[in-house]
Amino acid sequence: MIPAEFDYVRAGSVEEALSLLAQHGDEAKLLAGGHSLLPLMKLRMAVPGVLVDIGGLAELRYVRVEADEVAIGALTRDNELHTSTVAQAEVPLLAHVAGQVGDPQVRARGTLGGSLVHGDAASDLPTAVLALGGTLVVQGPQGTRTVAATEFFRGFFETAVGEDEMLVEVRVPRTGHLGWGYEKFTRRANDWPIIAAAAVDGRVALANMGPTVLRATATEQALAGGASIADAAALADEGTSPTADMHASQDYRRHLARELTRRALESAAAG
Ligand SMILES: Cc1cc2nc3c(=O)[nH]c(=O)nc-3n(C[C@H](O)[C@H](O)[C@H](O)COP(=O)(O)OP(=O)(O)OC[C@H]3O[C@@H](n4cnc5c(N)ncnc54)[C@H](O)[C@@H]3O)c2cc1C
Repeated sequence: MIPAEFDYVRAGSVEEALSLLAQHGDEAKLLAGGHSLLPLMKLRMAVPGVLVDIGGLAELRYVRVEADEVAIGALTRDNELHTSTVAQAEVPLLAHVAGQVGDPQVRARGTLGGSLVHGDAASDLPTAVLALGGTLVVQGPQGTRTVAATEFFRGFFETAVGEDEMLVEVRVPRTGHLGWGYEKFTRRANDWPIIAAAAVDGRVALANMGPTVLRATATEQALAGGASIADAAALADEGTSPTADMHASQDYRRHLARELTRRALESAAAG
């Protein structure tokens, strides 16, 4: 399908991108890797009048250690994150999950920031960032603010980034020495998770168990209280609201959440 007509402008800096957003208001959309936005435009589910292309902003493509955190530029591509030696050593869960997104073509262009701001509950990188207890750095006309990952995903495809703002950086704790686990269930290769579970440092996040990625808080509390992995994982779907579709019933999703949580926690415990 062919998208509706739009104007295209390439931003040369973060400041220019923000000023273009301010100029065009809700007519404008940022374009990073285009792997979520362009399909929506082809289906006419998004009809922006102006695309502000930020994909060329090299200043937002980095993975570096800063004190006890790893800072990742929002425009870092999935494959860059997956192959980053810094990410592999310091935050291996995230490096691994970046390699689980789609196929090589998607990973070559898709960005960490784009995946987070798109806010699909069935996506890999948001689940990992949530499990890691990450912080998101958002820049806008009023300056820069930070948002905890737990506050970032607001609702169905809705995040804390305003129409005149841009996600510029993602910060996650250095977890290099800690065990972690990531379990993703799909019906075919290179696909979005039907359910995924990420576990690290006593935190567990789930994909596709509600309108946003979410933390399995009952499991986390049980673990903190000394429960066994099996007992804690059995609570993974508590408080969640999975939908039923052609791929899985609600009950099957709940079963997957419990099972994948158990496996992810066992991987984390094995170190
Ligand atoms: C064939 C295919 C398979 C896929 N498989 C998977 C999969 O297995 N797992 C998975 O998780 N995802 C999958 N995806 C989705 C995809 O990986 C991500 O959603 C996508 O890469 C988003 O990043 P992007 O840079 O392409 O964002 P874009 O499509 O450019 O943008 C997405 C949205 O975010 C906004 N945006 C982008 N960057 C910023 C920013 N820095 N600040 C503010 N707003 C911003 C845009 O305006 C837009 O609304 C798949 C996609 C395709 C096409």
